[in-house]
Order: sequence, then structure tokens, then C-alpha cells
Amino acid sequence: MADKKTSASKRGEVQVYKFYKVEKENKIIRTKRDCPRCGRGVFMAEHKDRFSCGKCGFTEFHRTGAKSGNKSEGKNST
Ligand SMILES: [Zn+2]
Repeated sequence: MADKKTSASKRGEVQVYKFYKVEKENKIIRTKRDCPRCGRGVFMAEHKDRFSCGKCGFTEFHRTGAKSGNKSEGKNST
């Protein structure tokens, strides 16, 4: 078997950094959230205003500080 490897590796480097968001110096936050119920490794789908887990159905809304327009979203917190 004369299976020689090509000297130059193909251009297909995975850009891992895209999965992470670096803020400031030592702060790294993941752009993908993992489900607090299912634990690590289970990423939540990102929606316009919320994250949702496709596994257990957990939904987490974005925290957007002051929100104009007070919608009742089911929960009735006292
Ligand atoms: Zn989940």
C-alpha cells in the first residue's frame, strides 16, 4: 500500500471560535445555552425572544430589561 499523505492539509479548519463569544478579557460565554433541566450537552434552540429545549420542552425567555408592552405570558407572579 502506497498511501502517501498529502503534505499540505486541506483547507477545512473548523472555526471553533464561532461557537463562543468572548467578552472582555477573561470572560467567555457560550452563544449556545444548555438546558438547565437536561444538563450540559443539551443545547437549547435559539428563537427570536426565547430559548427552548427540544428534549424536555423547557423554555427560557430572554431577559430584556425594561420591556414596553406588558404581555401576560401565562405566568401570574404575585
Ligand atoms: Zn431540556
